[in-house]
Amino acid sequence: MPSLSQRTAGFTDSVIRRMTRISNQYGAVNLSQGFPDFEPPKEILNRLAEVTKEDFHQYSITWGAQNFREALARKHEHFSGQKIDPNSEIVVTCGSTEAMMAAMLSVTNAGDKVIVFSPFYENYGADTILSNAEPIYVPLIPPEFKFNPDVLEDAFKQHPKAIIVCNPSNPCGKVFTREELTIIADLAKKYDTFVITDEVYEHILYKPHEHVYMSTLPDMKERTILCNSLSKTYSITGWRLGYVVASPEIIDTVKKVHDFLTVGAAAPLQEAAVTGLNFGDEYYLDLQQKYTEKRDLFLKGLDTLKISHTVPEGAYYILLDISEFGYDDDLRFCEDLARLVGVGAVPGSSFFKEPENRYIRFHFAKKEDTLNEALNRLNDIRKKMPYHV
Ligand code: GLN
Repeated sequence: MPSLSQRTAGFTDSVIRRMTRISNQYGAVNLSQGFPDFEPPKEILNRLAEVTKEDFHQYSITWGAQNFREALARKHEHFSGQKIDPNSEIVVTCGSTEAMMAAMLSVTNAGDKVIVFSPFYENYGADTILSNAEPIYVPLIPPEFKFNPDVLEDAFKQHPKAIIVCNPSNPCGKVFTREELTIIADLAKKYDTFVITDEVYEHILYKPHEHVYMSTLPDMKERTILCNSLSKTYSITGWRLGYVVASPEIIDTVKKVHDFLTVGAAAPLQEAAVTGLNFGDEYYLDLQQKYTEKRDLFLKGLDTLKISHTVPEGAYYILLDISEFGYDDDLRFCEDLARLVGVGAVPGSSFFKEPENRYIRFHFAKKEDTLNEALNRLNDIRKKMPYHV
């Protein structure tokens, strides 16, 4: 038999999604893969029920249904203050996963370098490998997850084609400040680099943190490729609705890549999701309020365990320091945690370039009852988990 492609030998399956399978296997409360266990907004579901009886069963326009793109452009302008042309500056994709992949394939050639902050959302590693690009990792240093501007500039001196910025950040919960984004933007302009942003948690923020869109910084619109999705904002991760916003020159290329990758996102789901894109400000304020309550409940519960953890500024993930248990393999720790304690987590090593195994990641996009059940189970963590010291 001939050998399979070398490019696929460079990465494993997603550890995040593997942990969901392991959690299910042990009946654990699954706080690994980040998705809600509560319902999407009723208005969206009601519209979906209607849509099934209407004429939305064939392909939409490959770069997204006209009314969906128009609604996206309106919403984007409302929150960012930046006007975008729904015809030439947006492509609708199958989730932000495809958006990121299409962005990477659109800007990089084989061997091009791409700056990735570490810790990073694990897909970026695979995206880089699949596009035959080469990552340059720049650490976000715990506990505040700040970067060193000199180290970042050293990375830019290697003339990367792009930098990936996940803001608010998965898994560390960092919200980049305007000053930090300005440092990145200035370097991107100085070294003529694209900035690919992943802004899927733009509406999941905790006071006093605010979301600053990279593309709104001076002269950044033309070199920013914004990847986003409806998954987290409207609790519809299974619908796989994402999009790319960029200048018409870049979008022309992203349209081609997207066209041949997937043809298009699901037409009935785009139509139903327009309802969500038309929600008023109160929806987003309510979303923030609900996530703030979940975060506070979960943090309070974790505090009683006396395990040190991050306090997210945005997104819905918490990193816990599990070094006291003495495991040298955090994947084993997470397997034991699911099996013995009954709570699913993601090993931190799947997010760090540095050889880290002292963190695990929980997410808290869950109903209050689910979070309380997880906290109850975690009460016994020191009794049930074997110590390896
Ligand atoms: N973004 C979510 C996480 O980090 C879900 C990842 C996925 O499986 N698409 O857990």
